[in-house]
Amino acid sequence: MFKTILLIFGPQGSGKGTQAEMLAKKLKLPAISLGKLLRYESDIGSNIGRQAEAYMEKGELVPDGLTESIVRNRLQKEDVLAGFILDGYPRNKYQQDELIKLLGESVKDNDNIYAIEIWISDQEAIDRIGGRRICDCGAVYHLKYSPPKKDEICDLCGRKLYARDDDQPSAINKRLKLYHSETEPLLNYWLKKNKLIKINGERKINEIQNEIIKKLKKRNRISYDYY
Ligand code: AMP
Repeated sequence: MFKTILLIFGPQGSGKGTQAEMLAKKLKLPAISLGKLLRYESDIGSNIGRQAEAYMEKGELVPDGLTESIVRNRLQKEDVLAGFILDGYPRNKYQQDELIKLLGESVKDNDNIYAIEIWISDQEAIDRIGGRRICDCGAVYHLKYSPPKKDEICDLCGRKLYARDDDQPSAINKRLKLYHSETEPLLNYWLKKNKLIKINGERKINEIQNEIIKKLKKRNRISYDYY
């Protein structure tokens, strides 16, 4: 059996988390979000979570030692055997090198490994992230694109919505700069291997998803029954 590994790249607000979740359902693979795993560690007050919090609030990258151990542990679970979708990792050269080393032993030539870049402009990212609101129950809204029925109140549980600390304007700019300087250059590696799939993210969610699937189908042998 071959593996399907999709690495989802894109600046903040590009919708990579949403696309990763949609792909996960279709391909019946786990979507692994580093941001979510880190927020979980912080919520349960673990050692890693407490160390990561200060960086996350400021919109900075959490130190590699912490992310590496989270990824290593997650990729040891059984549910990743047929593959997985990784959102938010790698974000710098060190992480990419570590991931390639980690996958090295388990990945075969005929596995489907692709980097999917969901591209949006900085202005679009700023507009989108500025309106993002979350709820403690896990629901995510956007004041303009997917507003709750009642102003700033969660449709699902009735709690008050709030903006993530790292969605505040100063943190957004910092995160975009980091994306361009540290993460974007990683795409060259996948481009050279002919493993990069570029997607225009400035469209509707379903259109983006359809294009990802179309391009994946063209490229590889991902089981078409899943779609
Ligand atoms: P996200 O939910 O993907 O926007 O991630 C939220 C925050 O988690 C980021 O702003 C970083 O502080 C941290 N984070 C997520 N992924 C990584 C990573 N690969 N390396 C370092 N920090 C990360």
